[in-house]
Amino acid sequence: MMYISTRGRAAPAGFCDVLLSGLAPDGGLYLPAEWPRLSGEEIARISRLEFCDAAAEILACFAGKEISASLLREMAIAAYAPFDAPEITPLRRLGGDDYLLELFHGPTLAFKDVAMRLLAQLYDWALEGAAKGKTIIGATSGDTGGAAIAAFAGSEKSEVFMLHPKGKISHVQRRMMTTIDADNIVNIAVEGTFDDCQRIVKNLFADASLNAKVDLGGVNSINWVRLAIQTVYYFTASGALDSPASFVVPTGNFGDVFAGYVAKRMGLPVNMLCVAVNENDIMRRVIRSGVYRPASARQTSSPSMDIQVASNFERLLFDACERDAHALCALMSAFEKDGEMTLGAAAAEKIAEEFAAERADESEVAGKIRALYEASGMLVDPHTAVGLVALDKLRAARAVSGKAIALATAHPAKFPEAVEKACGVTPALPERFKDLHARAETLIEAPADAASVRDIVLSRSRFV
Ligand SMILES: *Cc1c(COP(=O)(O)O)cnc(C)c1O
Repeated sequence: MMYISTRGRAAPAGFCDVLLSGLAPDGGLYLPAEWPRLSGEEIARISRLEFCDAAAEILACFAGKEISASLLREMAIAAYAPFDAPEITPLRRLGGDDYLLELFHGPTLAFKDVAMRLLAQLYDWALEGAAKGKTIIGATSGDTGGAAIAAFAGSEKSEVFMLHPKGKISHVQRRMMTTIDADNIVNIAVEGTFDDCQRIVKNLFADASLNAKVDLGGVNSINWVRLAIQTVYYFTASGALDSPASFVVPTGNFGDVFAGYVAKRMGLPVNMLCVAVNENDIMRRVIRSGVYRPASARQTSSPSMDIQVASNFERLLFDACERDAHALCALMSAFEKDGEMTLGAAAAEKIAEEFAAERADESEVAGKIRALYEASGMLVDPHTAVGLVALDKLRAARAVSGKAIALATAHPAKFPEAVEKACGVTPALPERFKDLHARAETLIEAPADAASVRDIVLSRSRFV
């Protein structure tokens, strides 16, 4: 299996290269040169397998000859051992035709654990025998950093430097990162905003003298292999039902819902892919109007979806442009120049055929959390609530009918303040986090400049 870049000017790359790299060298995003296709029988069989077995078979489609399904299965079993649900991603019936796919049973209580745990296993495998380990540098507004740190802690072949904006992430999110005691993990609290953190990371990736000393890597949501892993739960959730379903996906960077699109391209029968957004609704606007235009970012109770531009949208756009890299490049350069782009009619139509989109404002999110609690005693986190509001609206508009699976992307206890404010109940952390607030924290504070962070990387790296 070979991978190509959406911008069309990078040499084709193999699975391992794509695993360990971020952006393609031409600034584009990697995608399989062709979507792997499974027959109806294969899909019926694979989607009824246990999660780790399904993961091995599906990832084998993407890894080609570079790695065997049996090794993938071993890695999956190791990756998901700490999950607190035997099904890994259990599906539960909400009522009627509505289902909830619980993706939050991993070590940091958010869906990012699912991809990140297996990604860490794959990194260790890919780096075996490498002369030098990988130095992963990332910026987080909360969930990604925690998942990466928990997944990579203790790895011999990689180390993680994770930047977060000091004082601007929740206490639970910070403690999940800073209380992990491993000498390959360095938490950096930057005196600035999330945007400052991202700017610093970008600067360090472009820093030639740093790159000469350490082998930099990224694990943010543009990493292709993270998306490939996320396709697995679309298969297993579909396999648990007897007829094709629509999926409702709380969306930020468009990674998770794009994984659903990939599963569909592989042959999985899926009705609508429903993009659920909070008040930062760029994806709803582009799906409905064909115009992609960022608005100013708003802070909401679902911070992992507070984005201005959805980086993985470029992957969908590439497909919607019939994989014409010239057309894609023209759109992206218009976007860089004018700050917005207007899709061609054919591309906009293709997208609207497969994706529905709805938004939830802050009062609707709180109302949903409260209504669900009052009706059934069940607590959901604000990201999940965005999806459930969107599902109600899409059903009312008849954009969705039949079975629908809403993705529950975080455990309610990860966002206790918002849940408490909405319904008056503070969700309890699972037993294994009982002492989270008593554990010692380790972090380094840094001013918001790349030079200071660079010094920290060079002085703390094990690979220099
Ligand atoms: C990251 C995240 C999302 C958004 O996922 P994307 O792949 O960026 O669209 C939604 N909910 C939670 C809890 C997240 O952590």
